[in-house]
This record gives sequence, structure tokens and C-alpha cells, in this order.
Amino acid sequence: PMASSEKEAALSAIPSDSPTIFDKIINKEIPSNVVYEDDKVLAFRDIAPQAPVHVVLIPKLKDGLTGLSKLTIADLNIRWVSTDSPIKVRQAVIDSPTRGQSVYHLHIHILGGRQMNWPPA
Ligand code: 5GP
Repeated sequence: PMASSEKEAALSAIPSDSPTIFDKIINKEIPSNVVYEDDKVLAFRDIAPQAPVHVVLIPKLKDGLTGLSKLTIADLNIRWVSTDSPIKVRQAVIDSPTRGQSVYHLHIHILGGRQMNWPPA
């Protein structure tokens, strides 16, 4: 389950195109534990890990990429999205604004190292 502070952060976060803490992480203005970096993406360990392995993968090009609901074909010039399939998935499953996000910079959580629960708590 989400840590309560993380849940509170997500509930109180207002969708926005303003720079986020992830921009500061990209620009090395605040430290993070980087596991992979190239010109397009940055992967770093989550500050509040929910599993033994918890990495956040983000595109460096933000331009409207605040969250999945904002993902467009024009945003797909990023390495980890090589086809338009994520757009099709998003169009198929999201019919209302994305909720439960605390940082409005598009990101993918990668969790591992333990058995996950289904359904998610
Ligand atoms: P969201 O709730 O938006 O899907 O996830 C945002 C994630 O970013 C959370 O899991 C949170 O722990 C992580 N996070 C927030 N601020 C920082 C930070 O300053 N450093 C790191 N490494 N992770 C952060």
C-alpha cells in the first residue's frame, strides 16, 4: 500500500505544467540515486521505495508530459516509447483525468524484488 504521506501528496496535488521536483533531479539541482541515464531518459531510485527495487523512469523532454492523460503522438520522440501503442492503451482505458499522481512529470514506476499483491491495495 502507498505510504500515507505519499497518498496525501497525491490527493492534494493539483495537475499542472509547472516544473516539478523531477526537473530538479534531471538538472542535478537535488541529488538522486541514478541507475540509468542517457540523453532522453533518467531512471533513479524512488525516495520512498514500495518494494526492494523501486525505480522511477522519466523522460527528460517534458513538454506537456505531465502524466499519462497528457501523452500525445507528438510526445513520442522518447526512447522508451517507440510506437504509438501507449497512446492506444491510454485512449482505451482513460476516460477521465488521471488521478492519484503526486508529481506531474510523466513517469513509470518499476517495482521488483518481492511478490506483488493483486488486486493492488
Ligand atoms: P506518483 O505518486 O506521482 O505516481 O509518484 C511520484 C513518486 O516520486 C513517489 O513514489 C515519490 O516517492 C517519488 N518522489 C517524490 N519526490 C522525490 C524526490 O525528491 N526524490 C526521489 N528519488 N523520489 C521522489
